[in-house]
Amino acid sequence: TGRPLARLAADAWERWGEDTTTVFEGARWTSAELGRQARAVAGGLAGLGVRPGDRVVVLMANCPEVTVSYQAVWWLGAVTTPVLFLVSEDELRHVLVDSEAVVVVTTPEFAGKVLGAARGVATLRHVVVAGEPVEGTVAFADLVGQDEAAPADVDPTGLGALLYTGGTTGRSKGVMLSHDALSAAAWASVLNSTDPGHTVSILPLPLAHVFGLMVSTMGLHATQAGTTVLMRWFEPAAYLRLVASEGVHVGPVVPAMLRSLLTQPLEEHDLSALQRLSSGSAPLAEEVVEQLARRLPHVEVAEGYGCTETAALISSTPLGAVRRGSVGRPVHGISLRITAPDGREVPTGEDGEICVQGPSLMQGYWQAPDATASTLRDGWLHTGDVGRVDADGYLYVVDRIKDLIIRGGFNVYPRDVEEVLMAHPDIANAAVVGRPDDVHGEEVVAYVQPAAGAALDPDAVRAYAREHLSAVKYPREVHVVEQIPLTSVGKLDRKRLRAFGAG
Ligand code: ATP
Repeated sequence: TGRPLARLAADAWERWGEDTTTVFEGARWTSAELGRQARAVAGGLAGLGVRPGDRVVVLMANCPEVTVSYQAVWWLGAVTTPVLFLVSEDELRHVLVDSEAVVVVTTPEFAGKVLGAARGVATLRHVVVAGEPVEGTVAFADLVGQDEAAPADVDPTGLGALLYTGGTTGRSKGVMLSHDALSAAAWASVLNSTDPGHTVSILPLPLAHVFGLMVSTMGLHATQAGTTVLMRWFEPAAYLRLVASEGVHVGPVVPAMLRSLLTQPLEEHDLSALQRLSSGSAPLAEEVVEQLARRLPHVEVAEGYGCTETAALISSTPLGAVRRGSVGRPVHGISLRITAPDGREVPTGEDGEICVQGPSLMQGYWQAPDATASTLRDGWLHTGDVGRVDADGYLYVVDRIKDLIIRGGFNVYPRDVEEVLMAHPDIANAAVVGRPDDVHGEEVVAYVQPAAGAALDPDAVRAYAREHLSAVKYPREVHVVEQIPLTSVGKLDRKRLRAFGAG
């Protein structure tokens, strides 16, 4: 830590010069080429009036231009604001207005949405488009052709990225991450990665999400030799083909990706180089881990846990030391406290709120002092997650506090109920929410998605759940749905689920 991201990148560009750093849709990008483009785009952005501290929104599906844009923005001492391309025009307008963005970098397929959202946003000066030219925008190719900019003198404790949270729970807020925080998070991951040699990893996660962003910044630490096989987006068959053809060793995934890999003929691909898949972002069901262990016994399925407010990682599984159901141990630099509602630390093994301290914590929420004050208290970040730590320091995430269902005064964690439902052979995925109830305060409602080719009868599912769960927990109401709604990073979308109309 203690160095701005642009300086870290410069070291990596120099050290790995002609080595392939990124493989994307058949093209190989060397470290030197990424660096050259980043410095040129920095020059181009400066020419468009971007100044240190300005917010630049990057809205694209994964491609090397995303990485180039991030590094160009850091080279200038400006602030990168990644946005997932699936956002609606309204959500995007909220980000543009709230962040007071000056430039948006995007691709032709999203230019219409960006131009629509940008209408009337006073701070926004230019929309840059990578790919086919679009009227009223600046061509990314022109920026790549500019003279390289000199690096700005950046304070590493200053703001490097502003990331808007998923918004699965209400209005999305900007999480302020400093250069130091991003670098510390990436460094902690480097320390945890498989081997010191040349690692080939596959990155199907959106670079706009904190998990993908952090993994991509790992490459800025010059100690991390490796090639990243970048996917525009996740597609299970293409993923397996790439793992086989590129000899991929490791990769970060989200649980929904693992679930969809299980629908593939895994045994028909040569996945012999693959050593480890690290899942994070959402709870990983036991059932999925067991099936993978059966079908890919040589691959270690590890879990990590984190949130945007900690620049991704809080904990991860030490190499070769997976403990089922656990999200691993705190990563380098992170301290944990599990607290009761009164703020006191609970004894080892007991449930409480997971609180975190360390160098990768956010500075706060952008222009939201109240939200910051309630989340960052006495130097501890309150995650809003319930968890416990065992005697060996392994962390278990129980559920989110805000998802807790209180039925007749008893606590029901949706995840416990979901795990039981997912163990049913005909259920591919399950989601559990509470709905207001006059008698019990809240009632447990389950949505189930049938496995391919299976049919589900709600009454039979209810009877099955009743057999396996206590009277408090079993869902009184079961809905069979074609597809459990997921967010763009594969998390259960409880907001859309509730809109399905519980009862
Ligand atoms: P919002 O805050 O708007 O709802 P979000 O929750 O999707 O958005 P993120 O920062 O992406 O924002 O998600 C962090 C949360 O994801 C954690 O607080 C935790 O609840 C959940 N999570 C992450 N990793 C895991 C994991 N391995 N197991 C269980 N839950 C996880």
